[in-house]
Amino acid sequence: MLKQSHAISEELIEWRRDFHMHPEIGFDLHRTAKIVADELEKMGYRVRRGVGKTGVVAEIGEGGKVVAIRADMDALPILEQNEHEYVSQTPGAMHACGHDSHTAMALGAALLLSKEKLPGRVRFLFQPCEETTDEEGKSGAQRMFDEGAVEGVDYVIAQHVDPLSPVGTIAISEGPSGGGVDTLTATIHGKGGHGAYPHKTVDPFFLLAQVIIALNGIVSRRLDPFEPAAVSIGSIHGGDAENVIPGKVTLKGTLRFTSLEVHKQIREEVTRAFEIVRSLGGDYELKFEFGGMPLVNDTYVSGVIERVGRDLLGANGVHAMHKTLGAEDFPEFLKNAPGAMYTLGTKIDGREIYELHHPKFDIDERALPIGTAVLVETALTFLRNES
Ligand SMILES: [Zn+2]
Ligand SMILES: [Zn+2]
Repeated sequence: MLKQSHAISEELIEWRRDFHMHPEIGFDLHRTAKIVADELEKMGYRVRRGVGKTGVVAEIGEGGKVVAIRADMDALPILEQNEHEYVSQTPGAMHACGHDSHTAMALGAALLLSKEKLPGRVRFLFQPCEETTDEEGKSGAQRMFDEGAVEGVDYVIAQHVDPLSPVGTIAISEGPSGGGVDTLTATIHGKGGHGAYPHKTVDPFFLLAQVIIALNGIVSRRLDPFEPAAVSIGSIHGGDAENVIPGKVTLKGTLRFTSLEVHKQIREEVTRAFEIVRSLGGDYELKFEFGGMPLVNDTYVSGVIERVGRDLLGANGVHAMHKTLGAEDFPEFLKNAPGAMYTLGTKIDGREIYELHHPKFDIDERALPIGTAVLVETALTFLRNES
């Protein structure tokens, strides 16, 4: 399979550079989605356009099990600082998370699979808006899930480029591998007044200080030390003048977790932390907004990816995944089928490393046929194992 995918290297690079030069953001992926859908139709896929606004779902094969391969297509609102010949032609938009290459590799996998005799079906999920959410707080994967993109699917796989790992490697681990997300928004109400007469006020900053200490105690004192989680405040606003104690202060933060039980527990603990405010004479409003499911790689699916990786890349080509509480919206597709995501080494030798979302992010394109081959071989392995 590596040989076959090397044979389409030129197409892979051409697709990737075309998407890179014409990045589109959020759900606004009309050009990218059209190219993807047109190419898939040419390859003989049954194509559904406009799934989850601008997503594309395409299936090939008959009967048997259904393996889904997901690729995200959206870029970021970043001004590219690279100087290569395929630099973004849209100022302020850039494929700085490698989704151009995810889309190209999935198209390559679709092409190679269209030439195979499949003992089942393969479904491609090309999704918009992985990086953010729409006005209703839904990401591309959530929208596509809601519109039945993974109905009838048995397994779902996806890959993400990794600028820190060398070309010729993948990384995969079973179990919790990425964070679920909650956003908290709160207002602490006190009683404003003159900074010289604090005793006549209920100082919301003083109340906030107690809350922050309690929030920082949640992970260290309230959760099981074997449960990865984070509680971080990212925004605090209140007051204007140096000698006026304001009546209120607002704050926003992010909660990360890898299990839904812990998610529930963190919400309870955060609420308790805010209760302190009432015992000190203030009041509060607190709102949580669920941002996304944690990534939990299925044991069987991860095992298949690992074996495929070893067969294709050798024992040194497969590593344990670097786990993080960073979020991905891929787990939305795993709500009724097992699946896993792995990372693909795309490090550029001899160049300073620029991480995901950096304006100088880039990949070593020699990784493209490798990622393509892993997708194809993994899909075929599932179908062969169960036919
Ligand atoms: Zn990203
Ligand atoms: Zn990404």
